[in-house]
Amino acid sequence: MKITGIVQGVGFRPFVHRIASKLNLNGFVKNTSDGVFIEIEGERGSLDEFHRLLKSSAPPLSRISTIDIGEIAPLGNDNGFRIIESSGGKGFTLISPDAATCPDCLRELNDPTDRRYKYPFINCTNCGPRYSITYKAPYDRPNTTMKDFKMCSLCQAEYDNPNDRRFHAVPNACPDCGPMLTVACGPDETSAIAYAVRLIKQGHIVAVKGLGGFHIACDADNESTVNRLRSLKRKSNKPFALMASDLNEIKKHCHVSDAEEAELLSAGRPIVLLKKKHPQSLPDSLAPKNTRLGFMLPYTPMHHLLMDELKIAVMTSGNVADEPIVSTNNEADRVLKPMADEVITHDRDIYMRVDDSVVRLGNDGIRRIIRRSRGIAPEPIKLISEGPDVLGAGADLKNTFTILKGPYAIMSQHIGDMENIETLGFYEETLKNLKSVYRADPKWVAHDMHPQYLSRRWAIGQDMQKLPVQHHHAHIASVIAEHNLKGRVIGVALDGTGYGTDGNLWGGEIMAADLTGFDRVAHFNYTPLPGGESAVKEPWRAAIGAVCSIRDNPKDVLKRIGFYDAYDESEINNIIKISRIPEFSPLSSGAGRLFDIVSALIGICGFNTFEGEAAIALESIACDDITDEYPYDIFDAAPGKPMVIGFSRSLTYIIDDRVSRADTGVIAAKFHNTAASAVVDVVKRISATTGIDAVALSGGVFQNEILLMSVSRRLRESGLRVYYNEAVPTNDAGVSLGQAVILREHLKEPVK
Ligand code: ZN
Ligand code: ZN
Ligand code: FE
Repeated sequence: MKITGIVQGVGFRPFVHRIASKLNLNGFVKNTSDGVFIEIEGERGSLDEFHRLLKSSAPPLSRISTIDIGEIAPLGNDNGFRIIESSGGKGFTLISPDAATCPDCLRELNDPTDRRYKYPFINCTNCGPRYSITYKAPYDRPNTTMKDFKMCSLCQAEYDNPNDRRFHAVPNACPDCGPMLTVACGPDETSAIAYAVRLIKQGHIVAVKGLGGFHIACDADNESTVNRLRSLKRKSNKPFALMASDLNEIKKHCHVSDAEEAELLSAGRPIVLLKKKHPQSLPDSLAPKNTRLGFMLPYTPMHHLLMDELKIAVMTSGNVADEPIVSTNNEADRVLKPMADEVITHDRDIYMRVDDSVVRLGNDGIRRIIRRSRGIAPEPIKLISEGPDVLGAGADLKNTFTILKGPYAIMSQHIGDMENIETLGFYEETLKNLKSVYRADPKWVAHDMHPQYLSRRWAIGQDMQKLPVQHHHAHIASVIAEHNLKGRVIGVALDGTGYGTDGNLWGGEIMAADLTGFDRVAHFNYTPLPGGESAVKEPWRAAIGAVCSIRDNPKDVLKRIGFYDAYDESEINNIIKISRIPEFSPLSSGAGRLFDIVSALIGICGFNTFEGEAAIALESIACDDITDEYPYDIFDAAPGKPMVIGFSRSLTYIIDDRVSRADTGVIAAKFHNTAASAVVDVVKRISATTGIDAVALSGGVFQNEILLMSVSRRLRESGLRVYYNEAVPTNDAGVSLGQAVILREHLKEPVK
């Protein structure tokens, strides 16, 4: 039997050994460079049972992709079942994401008689670091950052014993031979945890080295510390992540459904965005104006030890502003010391930085991945076909890249916004590692078309063959790849901005597409973005651009909706002036911009201090029992041109509602209904004329749950098949997957 998938470093061979021995079967199991190989003989019934158990009771961290079975003549030996030495080869095997401390290790951690009592690095084959410590295949101790720790005789005996939970547990360690915590300036290491706890309780900010990088921790209940951290770390309202000791602590502050509970407890231990309870006892400054809090549970023994004392703490990524998460002790000194009153670190190197993942439960019960990182990456997405190794370089916001290797798409962890040299460095370091771990050698790279994107400029500079891929086509292709869709789909890409083939900023795009290409069939109407990028950061500027394009008397309108009270008069007048000058006001069909504009027009949010803030605020105030909507227009296509979905009339009505002081929650709800109706309307028309019955929804605006649910429900009610991203984020992090699959298709059959 040849088994592929995540089958190494997860206790797979001992598991095989266990079930084979129990069934009195003979033979052996070994790791190969492309999976696990088993030769087994015995009674037919027992062999069938073996096959069944192999699939049904595999170890928790394993993921079986394929089992190939061939028959050879029985050897007739009855000397039992053995685990034998690994053998090489040129294939590759999948590496497990890092996994949260398992219940067995947790029990030992809290057992005063155990030799690993309160040892912050306890782990076994069912848990512990994987991806973050591995720099080369195969996954063996010398190829990880554990190579410098020589196991003591007790640890070695566990490692060598197939019946032990730590058999071949690569990061196996104990207080005598493994990594230790240290504090930068304080007392000795045995009390590092107690010392950190004391500092945090006193209102200090402490940097703590964890699994995939440093965290910055502080008391979540101490408003002045939280504010101090916000002013030191970021100049935005972006929520801080929280860690709680257990579910009950979280439930004091948030509503937690069964499905959310399962996410919180999953081996990946992501940050789960949960609805705040009211009244809220935690400081508002943790997640200003947000209806949700991001909580995670401890996922390393050190976190357990820390949280047992703290109960709830801010546990935000250890970085400054938009730079990647810090992972080395030197960097921590340079970058984190200015923010943190103390740095708690350890001597196990982090090879691959992996930030915490962020997920949310959709109203359909499906997990939405917002940031795909620690605990999820580098779990592959299975494709239906194979082909050459290729690279999708990704987009600039929330960048990831994707390598296609054999039948798998391997998406990198969250890299970040490609706007500084540090992030580019992280990008290159991660690419080098994934190429080495997966033995991938892509000769082709697909990249975005945006001339200003760093990811594009990077790709252009590579000694590889290149394929530019349109941003929204890539979004749609990510859904096609995830769901293995055949034939053309109607792709709805609702997004902030992406570079279009006409040089404008696209983002409200409806296309007929497959992996070989796309036709832009309809798009949201273009609006001028006065000042370009500054109107993206400050939606009130975009709102003025919109008012100018629908009203002849913009000043009067802006006065009546309070803009002259809220914003600087001379700036407003200047924006009015430039909004009709194309050089200063690029055109955008971005759906995200439309949500921004409405949010600013009705006084909800005029500034995006982080991406999506205005739109998130608008969604969060929308009343949920409103069925009314505003009028919109669908302008038929001129020959050879796409249809245009016009929202000018909607905006006119919204402005009137604002002037007459209508409830903003009702306006927001009616606007959501309008956007959904317009999309559904156009898609149905396209389906009727083309006969395409599959619809793919993607793009960052579909993080808006109201919109996603309403559009998908109504399209399904019309008999269409609707698909959206589940395994990868719908935001720009998903773009690299789309680029890569389009590229591989291109190599099969070049696009005309
Ligand atoms: Zn364990
Ligand atoms: Zn030891
Ligand atoms: Fe996008």
